Amino acid sequence: MEMIENPTKEANFGFRRVPLDHKQGLVDDVFRTVARRYDLMNDLMSGGLHRAWKAALVTAVNPPKSGRAFRLLDVAGGTGDIAFRVLEAGGSGTRATILDINGEMLAVGRERALRRGLDTAVTFIEANAETLPLPDRSFDAYTIAFGIRNVPRMDVALREAHRVLRPGGHFLCLEFSSVDVPALEALYDFYSFNVIPALGRAVAGDAESYRYLVESIRNFPRPQAFAAMLREAGFARVSFTPMTGGIVALHSGWRL
Ligand code: SAM
Repeated sequence: MEMIENPTKEANFGFRRVPLDHKQGLVDDVFRTVARRYDLMNDLMSGGLHRAWKAALVTAVNPPKSGRAFRLLDVAGGTGDIAFRVLEAGGSGTRATILDINGEMLAVGRERALRRGLDTAVTFIEANAETLPLPDRSFDAYTIAFGIRNVPRMDVALREAHRVLRPGGHFLCLEFSSVDVPALEALYDFYSFNVIPALGRAVAGDAESYRYLVESIRNFPRPQAFAAMLREAGFARVSFTPMTGGIVALHSGWRL
């Protein structure tokens, strides 16, 4: 019998509801637009804080300092920030695969890898987190930083993450979370909905893309709910660590 896709299936694109199958195209437009200014905007928007959040992720990945083989898959890896940091923290046996659906973001990543002399340790793959073109049980660690909220079918991407990790492999996700300090909340709201789109307009000539990024943060599940999704995907010893008053959380799970 022919399966007919449920026409009422929808996803959040910022604060808009869009057909599930349209979300990825809209997300791709955003990152195509921001690719060349992405790294500069990260520093400006977060006041440099993203560096500390990413450092915490790299510490949790904990690549071996020795020459022991260690394979990282960095999904939604964009311009390569996480993978480069892991390679620089690890020993000579550390290798990274950067996977992203957006060729423009990867192109910036390739240029950065060359400049840093890391091009021989890194492989770039243009693909969707929902359908990883990679064998089962092939990575020691899977990272996704500020990426999962852009993926239309998060549950599918999480199952794929579990599939490609070896038993004993570590899943780590850095994502915006729920601010849990009342005094910070009003300030954070003002900053998110006023300052960030204005920065986007001034620096990248594009307020709309940055409005989407802010709105998508607010739609992301609360950390407890995301932890439940990780368990549902098969991960064990699931935990999360809020950082900077809950602006960001580092989620962790293991394939046993
Ligand atoms: N991880 C990088 C960092 O922390 O700087 C980049 C994060 S950027 C906010 C989000 C990335 O997710 C973009 O590069 C975008 O192209 C990618 N992305 C969105 N949907 C995706 C999907 N379905 N599969 C893989 N990557 C996706």
